[in-house]
Amino acid sequence: MNERTLSHHKARWVRKGLIGGVIRRVEQEGLKIVAMKMVHLDKEEAEGFYAIYRGEPFFEKLTTFMSSDPIVVMVLEEEGVIERSRQIMGATDPQEAEEGTIRCMYADNNRENMVHGSDALETAAFEISYFFNSLEISGLRGVSVLTS
Ligand code: ADP
Ligand code: MG
Repeated sequence: MNERTLSHHKARWVRKGLIGGVIRRVEQEGLKIVAMKMVHLDKEEAEGFYAIYRGEPFFEKLTTFMSSDPIVVMVLEEEGVIERSRQIMGATDPQEAEEGTIRCMYADNNRENMVHGSDALETAAFEISYFFNSLEISGLRGVSVLTS
């Protein structure tokens, strides 16, 4: 069964001009992008997204960082996409991320680690609904006009 995940480029990488690399990589891996937009979260919205980390020592700086600049959010769809997108992303700390992963290639440190990917079905459902309503998720519905 196809599953969906929420993926986003964190603050600063839009400004750095590096989001194209991630989008291309997602496409090369065969993951379908079924929704995408750019948003600039305010502090409260960033805190809502990372609510499960409230109380962690990194919460304050993480949510300040995440509200400092626009981010690009995407919904990806494919069988096993949650696990696959996390493999492509690499470990949270880029110093531990395997060669060839996005975080190994682009991330600065374990807070400013460029990309996010949901880690389970339940978190994916919450995170997707945090940014998108059902009308904004196109899927690839119907027959493509390019192939018909
Ligand atoms: P992941 O993004 O790999 O799923 P987590 O869900 O554990 O990682 O953490 C969410 C985000 O919080 C991380 O991507 C990172 O930006 C930040 N973070 C996690 N741990 C730390 C830490 N020890 N110091 C600073 N920031 C952290
Ligand atoms: Mg996580």
